[in-house]
Amino acid sequence: MKLLAATRSAGKRPEIRRMLEPAGTEVVFPEEIGLWETPAEDALELGETFEANARRKAEYFARLSGLPTLADDSGLEVFSLGGAPGVRSRRWAGATGPREVVDAANNAELLRRLYGAPEARRRARYRCVLVLLRTPDAVPERFEGVCGGRILEEPRGTGGFGYDPLFFSDELDRTFGEATAEEKDAVSHRGRALRALAAALPAVR
Ligand code: IMP
Repeated sequence: MKLLAATRSAGKRPEIRRMLEPAGTEVVFPEEIGLWETPAEDALELGETFEANARRKAEYFARLSGLPTLADDSGLEVFSLGGAPGVRSRRWAGATGPREVVDAANNAELLRRLYGAPEARRRARYRCVLVLLRTPDAVPERFEGVCGGRILEEPRGTGGFGYDPLFFSDELDRTFGEATAEEKDAVSHRGRALRALAAALPAVR
């Protein structure tokens, strides 16, 4: 079964492949079927919830491709910051350019906002909402995963992407930057949501 994973994120892609391909799903990304990035896509992520954004991305790419389509919208929620950066996780600091530059600016912003905050105010969770459309007009199916932890005062490790070197996982007792790919997949928000989706996939035709 071929499934379009409607993401341009270089960080999410290997995670999606690792989790879905062993279960027999052929995962393709937009460029692999000739769907190049356009400015119109920016407007797909202006919703106020992960679900709204994931649904818009899934609908847009399902219509363009005609393939069963999966979209991921995800982010980091820091409780003492009222859930920020949340749906704005990717562009929180307003930086543009290569992924490393954007990630570094976002991580610096996170450290600045939490500067001097005690451990109790550094609690956070990652959240991932996946929307699956089996056909462009199908009823959207939603899968969610969360993962709890706290934000450290300085980065640890170079694995993962985005906020991972600052996110200390309660379950792993280390940051996602220090974790192996397998360790992150086992407890991460995306790993959990993808496992739920994989369990539902055999019914896709
Ligand atoms: P999206 O592509 O609009 O869903 O934005 C996702 C953003 O949330 C990423 O660019 C990261 O900033 C953050 N994020 C989501 N999942 C992860 C993760 O697994 N590790 C690190 N950052 C993540």
